[in-house]
Amino acid sequence: MNPPTDMHDKALKRTDTLGHGEATTLCPVCGERSTSAFWEIQSLPIKCNVLCSTRAEAMEVPRAAVHLAVCGSCAYIWNTSFDATKMDYDPTYENALHFSPRFRDYAEGLAQQLVEDYDLRGKDVLEIACGDGYFLRLLCKYGSNRGVGFDPSYTQRSSCHDDETDVTIVSDYYGEKYADRKADLICCRHALEHMSDPVAFLRMVRRTIGNRRDTIVFFEVPNAMFILRDLSVWDIIYEHPCYFTAPSLTESFGAAGFDVESVRDVYDGQFLTIVARPQVESAGAVTANDRATCDVVNAALDFAGRFSQKLDTWAKQFATLATGNRRCVLWGAGSKGITILNMLQPVCGTDSVKYVVDINDRKHGKFVAGTGQEIVSPEFLKKCPPDVVVVMNPVYESEIRCVLNELGVSSEMIMA
Ligand SMILES: [Zn+2]
Repeated sequence: MNPPTDMHDKALKRTDTLGHGEATTLCPVCGERSTSAFWEIQSLPIKCNVLCSTRAEAMEVPRAAVHLAVCGSCAYIWNTSFDATKMDYDPTYENALHFSPRFRDYAEGLAQQLVEDYDLRGKDVLEIACGDGYFLRLLCKYGSNRGVGFDPSYTQRSSCHDDETDVTIVSDYYGEKYADRKADLICCRHALEHMSDPVAFLRMVRRTIGNRRDTIVFFEVPNAMFILRDLSVWDIIYEHPCYFTAPSLTESFGAAGFDVESVRDVYDGQFLTIVARPQVESAGAVTANDRATCDVVNAALDFAGRFSQKLDTWAKQFATLATGNRRCVLWGAGSKGITILNMLQPVCGTDSVKYVVDINDRKHGKFVAGTGQEIVSPEFLKKCPPDVVVVMNPVYESEIRCVLNELGVSSEMIMA
């Protein structure tokens, strides 16, 4: 698919003015040459979701630069300096989201919808990168299905498991050696963005399906338009070598041999879901929509300037908190919370943030990678009430307000 020429010319011209605009490399998804570097940061923790046991350990986590480029043809966005050999996902990696009631409601609704839409009853369900198996158990519970999940970071540990469900979890990466595990649904949420070569990964998934053409494939990824358009800049992390939008997700699945049934933005526009089926031989290549591709490329080319403005605003905010001697905590020790601290650290320091609060008890007593704040429970705020709570994700605002009210803590809340 070729983008309109004026958009492409504009893209290259505008990236020249950023000083690092020469076309980087071929697009890893569609192979086109019309790629533009559009944003960079010199130092972020390589693994922001790793649990650090001491402040000293947290301050010494390995760091690396992120250089983002966009493809003018399929709108794929990726970190051109990503080095996959720096990543491994062991049990110290913790990015479960289902501790939040809001997220649990969403996951339950999604599982019920999938069971309903694809009549998944008494079927075999396979989840890649299943974490502790929370979502897989929901799929099995609602449809009396049999589940098998794969995750290298899985260890037997206490959590919200329903032992009634017929679920097996394999502590390993999913791969072709597991092709004998027949599945009516293959599901994979929040993992594709961790792959340095997502199309190769999708092709592997396609090969494991073989001739079972009725298999439904369901993936969920962060929506890069939420970063570019809504400036959720704290979602840029080294763990994510790629950032998908609807056009590039469609292109990636098409390139890997799937027919795309639907792409939707969900969770207040923060995530994208895709449903696909193995391509039939005669089907033509899937092409993304030109208009949507232009929107992504233009948003990418505007991003560096808008990012700088947002960082400046927050540097001033942190400085005001520090000079006013106001006790500040940040709510949410996930990717966003850790990234805002690491992005602001070299600009204005982060001493004004004393603690980071999280409802995931696996994180309590641990320290933020890169900046060293201790992660505490909400209950901790009773003995050490803050003046200001910085809320990292607006979708959790009312949930956090309820918790603060229950604790009898009245703090000003600021949305990041
Ligand atoms: Zn491309």
